[in-house]
Amino acid sequence: MLLNIPHSQVSIPAAVRADILLDDAELTAELATMTDWHTHELFDLEDLRVPTVVFPWSRLVCDVERFADDAMEPMSARGMGAVYERTSEGKLLRNRMDREARTLYLERYYNPHHKKLQELVDDALARQQGCLIVDCHSFRSAPVLCDLDQSLNRPDICIGTDSAHTPAALIRQIERTCSALGLSCEVNRPYAGTMVPLKYLQRDMRVKSVMIEVRRGLYVDESSGLKLSSFESVRQKIRGILFAATAI
Ligand SMILES: [Zn+2]
Repeated sequence: MLLNIPHSQVSIPAAVRADILLDDAELTAELATMTDWHTHELFDLEDLRVPTVVFPWSRLVCDVERFADDAMEPMSARGMGAVYERTSEGKLLRNRMDREARTLYLERYYNPHHKKLQELVDDALARQQGCLIVDCHSFRSAPVLCDLDQSLNRPDICIGTDSAHTPAALIRQIERTCSALGLSCEVNRPYAGTMVPLKYLQRDMRVKSVMIEVRRGLYVDESSGLKLSSFESVRQKIRGILFAATAI
């Protein structure tokens, strides 16, 4: 198993901040909405030495979960491809980069994350029969404008799947575990899909992947990102889900 944690951080390099067209209050509000708060702690399995790749910057710097090629990325139509041009509410976030500037930018911020992830998968496949990537996220209790799914009744846990890389038995196992832990759970709602490095996508089925997303209202104050007193019990439940996933 290895963990991909792309959206937990809030840091923005000064040079990137200079190109963001929001004032400090607007930026703080956008970070509150867009950050998967504390997911690097919520999904932490460091004590078990599970390899983990945490993107060190905010997703407003770039979103490593999105395809770098806008032609492959459905959210680019909303100005939210790998390099966002719009906020979650559709406001202008930054001016469009020309192709050369965007390529340099992706080389600096986007590619290192994917290189690490791919190296870990390469390494796992060299040593074992296969590997399971768990794509670790959290989501708002209520939708915002950029969300494709605008329905209000969001589950506690969303399982994101890929038709080729997520075994049905794994989905069932996570569903059963959620039920036993008293968590409501849906598959690919409100968010669909899961991270598979491009090198392996639709090519090497030894690479399994599943996305696990937690509804933020379970563990943080969603306006501030501060932990609730329930944080530790939610963390233990996530740990239970991760353990169950490894049993498949
Ligand atoms: Zn996320």
